[in-house]
Amino acid sequence: MTLAYVGLGANIGEPRRQLQTALKELNGLPKTRMTAASGLYRSAPVGHPDQPDFLNAVVELDTELSPDALLDNLQEIETAHGRERPFAGAPRTLDLDLLLYGDAALATPRLTVPHPRMHERAFVLKPLAEIAPLAAIPGHGKARDLLCACRGQLAERID
Ligand code: ATP
Ligand code: CA
Ligand code: CA
Repeated sequence: MTLAYVGLGANIGEPRRQLQTALKELNGLPKTRMTAASGLYRSAPVGHPDQPDFLNAVVELDTELSPDALLDNLQEIETAHGRERPFAGAPRTLDLDLLLYGDAALATPRLTVPHPRMHERAFVLKPLAEIAPLAAIPGHGKARDLLCACRGQLAERID
């Protein structure tokens, strides 16, 4: 079994409902148990600012799925939520990023772990630090320590 962390995000449709449904679906993944879930956070969009604010969360999964199989399952859930990718950074009904998979460092054409931008994103680090303050991001350090560097980014816990 491996502890994996998944980041959730949504900013079109009904973001709160989509995240709540996604949490149930993640909880029902094969060979996997959800061991922690953060509260919901509201964050300002990054990259393309002219779109609605995001709702975000992070969950901890205890899983026997391989990283690749876990990503397959995450992408199936995104697709079931009507996820479309018209352009990079587009608004989305649901985004599920594999943030950490144990202490693995992987780089394949379809999967990079740790997620290559997680360490600089308050909307990832805040919910991650809530459920796993000591979680280490290989090559970068602890979530809680990295948060200081992105103090200027809006990411507030809403419930
Ligand atoms: P960002 O990766 O900066 O958060 P995004 O989530 O909007 O951007 P997507 O369009 O959802 O990007 O994903 C693009 C591709 O990233 C996916 O097709 C997937 O194969 C790849 N990918 C690489 N590493 C990961 C990872 N750790 N988690 C999820 N997808 C990943
Ligand atoms: Ca993402
Ligand atoms: Ca993604």
